[in-house]
Amino acid sequence: LNRNDEFGTLADSLNHMASTLRADNEKLKRLNEKQSQFFADITHEVRNPLHTISGSLEMLELPNLPAEKKKQYMVTARKQIKRVARLFEDIKTLQRYDFDENFINREIFNLKELVKEVEAAHQPMAEKKGLKLKLAKLSNCNVNADPNKIEQVLDNLVSNAIKYTPEGSVEVGFKKKEGLVEVYVEDTGPGIGEEHLDRLFDRFYRTDKARSRDKGGTGLGLSVVKGILNAHQSEIKVESEEGKGSRFFFQLPVVG
Ligand code: ADP
Repeated sequence: LNRNDEFGTLADSLNHMASTLRADNEKLKRLNEKQSQFFADITHEVRNPLHTISGSLEMLELPNLPAEKKKQYMVTARKQIKRVARLFEDIKTLQRYDFDENFINREIFNLKELVKEVEAAHQPMAEKKGLKLKLAKLSNCNVNADPNKIEQVLDNLVSNAIKYTPEGSVEVGFKKKEGLVEVYVEDTGPGIGEEHLDRLFDRFYRTDKARSRDKGGTGLGLSVVKGILNAHQSEIKVESEEGKGSRFFFQLPVVG
C-alpha cells in the first residue's frame, strides 16, 4: 500500500463516519421535535380542564349560590379532574409501549371469556344511552397475548363506539380465520371521513375536538390501542362509511 492509498482509505472511513453521524443527528433532531410536540400537546390538554375546574371552584365560592347550581359546578369539576387523571393514565401507558416492547406479558387465554367480560362491563353505559350493545355468537378461542392489554384495547374501542354512536347498536365479537382470529367492534354511529383515516391513530387526533372533549375524551385512546397492538406485532384497522358507522378490527394468532 502506498501513502496515497492509505490516505484514500482513511478518507473513505472518515466520510462514512461523518455520514453516519449526520444520519444519527437527523434522527435525534426528529425525536426531539416529536417530544417537544408531545409536551406542547399535553400542556394544551391539561390547561383546558384546569381552567374549567378553577372556574367552577370560583363559582362555588359565591355566597347564596342555589343548591342546584352548586351541584352542577361540583359535577363539572369532578368530571374534569377525572379527565386529567385519565389523560395521565394514557400517557403512562403510551410511554411504556414506546420505550419497552417487552412490557406485555403473554399467556394463553380464552378470548371468548374476555370479550364477554368487556361486553358485560359496558352494558350499563349502553343502556343509559338507549343503545343496544350486542355480543356476537362466539366459540371458545385460545390466543397467546396479554389479556390485560387486550382488555384495554377492547375497552377503548367499545367505549368509543358507545360514546360516538347517538342511536342504533354496537356489536363486539370475533371470527376465526386460518390460524388467526379477527376481533372487531362495530357501530352504527356517524362514521369517520376518509380525510381523517391517515391520522386517526395519532396522539391527540380527533375528528371533532369539541365533541371529544365534551364526552371526556383524552384524544389518546386510539393511540394507546395502536401501541398495545404494535407490541403484539398486530395492527389496528378501521373500515368506515360516513353516516353509516365504523368497524374497528385487529388480528391475533390462535393457539391449538
Ligand atoms: P377520544 O378521547 O377523543 O375519544 P380516541 O383516540 O379514542 O380519542 O379517538 C380519536 C378520535 O377518533 C375521536 O375523537 C373521534 O373523533 C374518532 N372516533 C373514535 N372512535 C370512533 C367511532 N366509533 N365513531 C366515530 N368516531 C370515532
